[in-house]
Amino acid sequence: MNSLSLYRDARLATLDGPEPWGALVENGAVLVGDGRIVWMGALPRLPSELAARVETEHHLHNAWITPGLIDCHTHLVYGGLRAKEFEARLAGLSYEEIAHAGGGIRSTVQATRLAGESGLLKTARQRLAALCADGVTTIEIKSGYGLSLVDEARMLQVARRLGHDGGVDVRTSFLALHALPPEFDGRADDYVAEACQWLAKLHEAGLVDAVDAFCERIGFSCAQVERLFIKARELGLPVKLHAEQLSDQGGAQLAARFKALSCDHLEWLSPEGVQAMAQAGTVAVLLPGAFHFLGETRLPPLAALQEAGVPLAVATDHNPGSSPLLSLRLAMSLACRHFGLTPEQALRGATVNAARALGLADRGRLRTGLRADLCVWAVDHPRELSYWMGGRMLTHRVLAGQEMLDA
Ligand SMILES: [Zn+2]
Repeated sequence: MNSLSLYRDARLATLDGPEPWGALVENGAVLVGDGRIVWMGALPRLPSELAARVETEHHLHNAWITPGLIDCHTHLVYGGLRAKEFEARLAGLSYEEIAHAGGGIRSTVQATRLAGESGLLKTARQRLAALCADGVTTIEIKSGYGLSLVDEARMLQVARRLGHDGGVDVRTSFLALHALPPEFDGRADDYVAEACQWLAKLHEAGLVDAVDAFCERIGFSCAQVERLFIKARELGLPVKLHAEQLSDQGGAQLAARFKALSCDHLEWLSPEGVQAMAQAGTVAVLLPGAFHFLGETRLPPLAALQEAGVPLAVATDHNPGSSPLLSLRLAMSLACRHFGLTPEQALRGATVNAARALGLADRGRLRTGLRADLCVWAVDHPRELSYWMGGRMLTHRVLAGQEMLDA
């Protein structure tokens, strides 16, 4: 094994197990080697044979170590901005009215197609830097603003490039069923058939980790999404779904039939949808940024989800139209304020449950053997991660055992 680094004189919130915060460890330490957590616990218990091999020590002055944050739902790669639309919405236009008027997703599609790879990469890198500086170590990035084979491929290539840059682990989702591109007006079923063929090609090129869709009146019907999900299953790809954001389409039940990793948004989720998700082990991804930014009032059925034992994740849903949110901690704070999560549930939602929403069992908790994705926070208690709205409290960000220099 290569050199061992010891993060010591810290307190640990492991998020591992059902106890509040997993377990809280005083005078804790995490030993890192070969990208993994080699050992963790109370420092006096560090085995002497491991202590003898420590090459680097980080004295953390009683700061808190948590798992690295995981943003499990973003649309980070896009061209253009929608700040003018924000003004229009403040003046009284609804999301659906803006979409019908040719604004909304379509305006971002146009800007994304025009941006080119270097333009997309440049702006996405800037946004990613902000998310990482606030603790993100794994991020999911969706396509869905290209809506042609070449443009969807470019978005996914840019997402992969962001991962290869080395500052964050990137998971990609194919989201061609996000909006109907203008060239397919009136031919949604033809578009779905095309998208299924693109999926096979993009998967072949190694660009797709999961398949997503927008199941909504202004998006795609359950029958159309099902055709895509059947293709995903053929290819061995997991699915997730933007479900029940603006109306109850029964998308959650459809997704559950395909053992979806997650259903996301869920403001209009029905009791049947809750049960279907619980039985399928599907994670509910809460996106309080969009709820807040759109001024929504309809809450997801949080009590029913929790009673049914559906794991709750929290993500930024970063996108230019409905959630230009650049801090996962702020999403956690909004989840507490708007959705009634406790700060402990919010942190769980941005770590262990977010990992599950991406199908990743090797991270999201502090446990020996898992990836050493760590955040070190200069706070007095991890509840403060949801309390502060903004600010800088991250002092170290460790990605697969490598200290990142942005913290
Ligand atoms: Zn989304």
